[in-house]
Amino acid sequence: MSDNSSIENKLSTIKYNVSELSHLIADCEKCKNCKTKECTYVCPARVYSVDEDTNIIKIEYENCLECGACRFICPHNAIEWKYPKSSKGVIYKLS
Ligand code: SF4
Ligand code: SF4
Repeated sequence: MSDNSSIENKLSTIKYNVSELSHLIADCEKCKNCKTKECTYVCPARVYSVDEDTNIIKIEYENCLECGACRFICPHNAIEWKYPKSSKGVIYKLS
C-alpha cells in the first residue's frame, strides 16, 4: 500500500516557475571548511547536498520552497539568499 501522505509525495505536487539564475549562492570556501553542514538536513526540499569526492556543496535551487530556514541555520553566514525574480520560483496555491 502506498503512503500518499509522505513528504516526497507532497513535495511532488508543488509547482515551480524555474528561474535560469540561482537565487541561492553559497560561499564555497566557508562550506568546504564547515564540519556540520546544517543546510543538508534543515532544508525540507533537500536543496543542499555534499559531493563526497570534493566536499563541495551542491545547490539544487530549482527545488527551493523559499522557507528561509537555511540562511538562519547556517553557522557561518555563508548563504547569499534572495527571493527569485518576480514571478519565478515556487508557486503556492491559495485555494
Ligand atoms: S551550513 Fe552553511 S557553511 Fe555549512 S555547508 Fe551549509 S551553507 Fe555551507
Ligand atoms: S529556503 Fe528553505 S527550501 Fe529553500 S533552500 Fe533554504 S531551507 Fe531549503
